Amino acid sequence: MKSILLIGLGRFGRHVAMQLNHLGHEVMAVDNDEERVNAVLPYVTNAMIGDSTKESFLASLEIGSFDACIVAIGTDFQASLETTSILKEMGAKKIVARASTDIHEKFLLRNGADEVAYPEKQLAAWTAIRCASDKILDYFELDENYSIVEVVAPDDWSGKSVVELDLRRRFNINILAVRENSSLNIKISPQRIMSKGEHVLLLGDENDIQKCLKI
Ligand code: ATP
Repeated sequence: MKSILLIGLGRFGRHVAMQLNHLGHEVMAVDNDEERVNAVLPYVTNAMIGDSTKESFLASLEIGSFDACIVAIGTDFQASLETTSILKEMGAKKIVARASTDIHEKFLLRNGADEVAYPEKQLAAWTAIRCASDKILDYFELDENYSIVEVVAPDDWSGKSVVELDLRRRFNINILAVRENSSLNIKISPQRIMSKGEHVLLLGDENDIQKCLKI
């Protein structure tokens, strides 16, 4: 269980709070709007109304005691940047800040953010890739080249074993897991026979995955 400071409780921040709660983490939520603070109370351990650009307010929270700080302020870039840099000065262990533009991303990374969440850009990539092919069911980008994708096994895989498919040698792709009765089987033996239409998780370079699936 981690202890997280979450600043900014708009739609994005509220969803982050709900997800952290679902994962069993301790969350201190902050916003300068009382109604927004009240709306997340069911999902968080503690909450405070306050302005995160005021050093005296952040100093009262003992920033160094949190495992991570999330700055989920989107529209007011000045407030987001000031908050990020004060958190850094106060010894935050890890800062994840939300960006809405490429410039914001660059400045946040230069001014204290360890990581940037850029919902519009990240979800645009996910939406484009999912919609461009009905073979791709889900997609998770690991870095600029590598992704994990969940795909529908192509028809010509049916009846073949993992060894026979030989995806690692032919396409530099690893089969990570196969969905079986809605749960994931992550112990895929080389002898396992693939079935028509089953859902498979692949790890590899995006271009190789496209070649392999003939997209
Ligand atoms: P979302 O896109 O997540 O719905 P939004 O567009 O409603 O957010 P933003 O301006 O992105 O609003 O701010 C997100 C939240 O951060 C808001 O609830 C806002 O009240 C809060 N916020 C903005 N500035 C500060 C600040 N200086 N201190 C504390 N909270 C702030």
